[in-house]
Amino acid sequence: MNRRAFLKAASAAAAWAAWGSPARAQARKRPPNIVFFLVDDMGWQDTSEPFWREPTDLNRRYRTPNMHRLAGRGVKFTQAYACSVCSPTRVSLMTGFNAARHRVTNWTLRKDRCQDAPHPRLRMPEWNCNGLCPQGGLPRSVHATPLPEFLRRAGYRTIHVGKAHWGALGTTGADPRNLGFDVNIGGHAAGGPGSYLGKQDFSAAWRKGDRIWDVPDLDKYHGQDVFLTEALTREAKRAFADAVAQDKPFYLYMSHYAVHVPFAPDERFVQAYRRAGLDQTESMYAALVEGMDKSLGDIMDHLQALGVADNTIVLFMSDNGGLSAHGRGGKPHTHNRPLSSGKGSAREGGIRVPMLAYWPGVTRAGSTCDELVMIEDYFPTILELAGVRDARQVGGEIDGVSFVPLLRGGKGPADRALVWHYPNVWGPQGPGIGPYSAIRQGDWKYIYYHDGPREELFNLADDISETRNLADQKPEIRSRLALLLREYLLRVKAQMPVDKKSNTPVSLPGT
Ligand code: CA
Repeated sequence: MNRRAFLKAASAAAAWAAWGSPARAQARKRPPNIVFFLVDDMGWQDTSEPFWREPTDLNRRYRTPNMHRLAGRGVKFTQAYACSVCSPTRVSLMTGFNAARHRVTNWTLRKDRCQDAPHPRLRMPEWNCNGLCPQGGLPRSVHATPLPEFLRRAGYRTIHVGKAHWGALGTTGADPRNLGFDVNIGGHAAGGPGSYLGKQDFSAAWRKGDRIWDVPDLDKYHGQDVFLTEALTREAKRAFADAVAQDKPFYLYMSHYAVHVPFAPDERFVQAYRRAGLDQTESMYAALVEGMDKSLGDIMDHLQALGVADNTIVLFMSDNGGLSAHGRGGKPHTHNRPLSSGKGSAREGGIRVPMLAYWPGVTRAGSTCDELVMIEDYFPTILELAGVRDARQVGGEIDGVSFVPLLRGGKGPADRALVWHYPNVWGPQGPGIGPYSAIRQGDWKYIYYHDGPREELFNLADDISETRNLADQKPEIRSRLALLLREYLLRVKAQMPVDKKSNTPVSLPGT
């Protein structure tokens, strides 16, 4: 952060400190608490709350009564998007940058090591495999001031519970406490849990897995019959109760490891799904979804019990689509239909996610919003909700657009274009798998696959399943979107894979 920006942020903090005096407290409305409830790998349809125009088989499979409760109070977003894998989404949330700009385009784990699977013809670029770093100078990382740091400076108690997955092991960004969080429970470099079971100490030791996946900070639950989702929920409730006791506004980042692999049976819920005829994997997954939903309900109940529910905004989101790719010989546990494909894909199944928002006294109860929203929009939105108006990101420019007007029932920018950029190879195969760049504007979505290159163009309004590629039939629309995408990728100096044979970068779309 430059000196001018720092002084502005400091003055915001001073303004907040002044709020603390009793006279001011009468005069000014208290800043709202903000709960951001982020689920991992939850598909658009993996809930009994319908996000499409009609309920689907998956909506009938899952039970998420607390998502109904939240949707009934607030607004349901039917066209909300994230990146197609974990770390890019999470870094966009923290910085307001699109993945093409922050360059943490794939998932992170170990320092200086990329997780890309090999590709026969392309070499992947030197993306920021070390993740997000609060200071400059670390090679292959993005330097930015993280969202909770701005909130903390403005007087918020910032609480991190669950999965972090922002920085590689051994880097500063691996620990949420270095990214502006006052409290961290359970977050570190890894993007999945060693185990969901307290009886297995939440460790990967039971499967002779790498101990890098062991969930930290939860020793008091080790050896106990407590599911990870439940342990994290109890810790979150305790942490925000502390903030309320201290009379401080809080930001709770409730970032569940659920519903990511490796699955384990949550005995509170799993038997009912087995009785309903789901196979072992499907029933474990459905129970993970219901356990996540119970956590949402427990947190809402606790806000009520503490008397702060009326001044707490609750935001709900998933970090990418449901994992529909075939694992090692197994069948997928979810499929995202009517959407095509799933996690890792540029198709809707990889990027369109469930999203709900409740702002007491502002959002219209039970309303629906069809406007386009992208994960980087959370950065300016949360800062605006918290009243932090003078925050400036490192570099000065962000990609996110505040969706506060949408929460108030208004419209978003008419010409808004969303961009995805994944110059990486995820591993599992399926439709729409990268490396790719993609853009959506209005009803049209254009995907540019770096291998080939080849193009797809879909009209999502009448082909949500992306079955009819109109790239040849609609050349004007294809060219317009390709040029728009090209201009953006050029502007942010996006990285492209390199053709191994010619040793030249893959050409940009619209060339
Ligand atoms: Ca994820």
